Amino acid sequence: MENLDSGLLIALVYGGVVLAAFWLAMIIWAYRDMRSRSRDGIASILVGIMVAILTIPGLFIYIMLRPRETLSEAYERSLEEEALLQEIEEKPHCPGCAQRVDPDWQACPTCHTRLKRPCAVCNHLLELSWEICPYCAASQNQYMPDDTVINTSRHISRRAPEPPAISNKWLANDPTASADSASDMPQYVDDNY
Ligand SMILES: [Zn+2]
Ligand SMILES: [Zn+2]
Repeated sequence: MENLDSGLLIALVYGGVVLAAFWLAMIIWAYRDMRSRSRDGIASILVGIMVAILTIPGLFIYIMLRPRETLSEAYERSLEEEALLQEIEEKPHCPGCAQRVDPDWQACPTCHTRLKRPCAVCNHLLELSWEICPYCAASQNQYMPDDTVINTSRHISRRAPEPPAISNKWLANDPTASADSASDMPQYVDDNY
């Protein structure tokens, strides 16, 4: 009988210790879980206290009511949303009609605004404002009038003044030199020697 009593006592103590450890683990798990879902430290402590008092039903209640996302999940989601937004914003828009356009397009299909032009030498697409090609360093000024798409666009009238502006630049040099252009040339040759 004594052996049985001590055996029962050991079993009871063992069961008690296991239950206590389980209870403690439940509280710690609930507290940590709440910490990963909320920045509110008091809420985490309250969850721990609730699980400590209500034990397993308290844990179920907590699992049912806890915030759906952990803080890191929420952060990741906000990063993804931001990246998506940025992608949408970074897509180029037509300056004429604000429609979304492809970076490879030379003209807007909706309003025919010229968007880009190919380099006359290497055919890379260039911004209209670029005067030299960044790929092959070829000057783009003299190739402007050859642009067939510009000539068919109804925006030619707005873009047309550009080539004269370039030729005006040449002319601007000319009037100063035109009077004595003959004397200008030899001077240039002299400078070289
Ligand atoms: Zn357009
Ligand atoms: Zn080029």
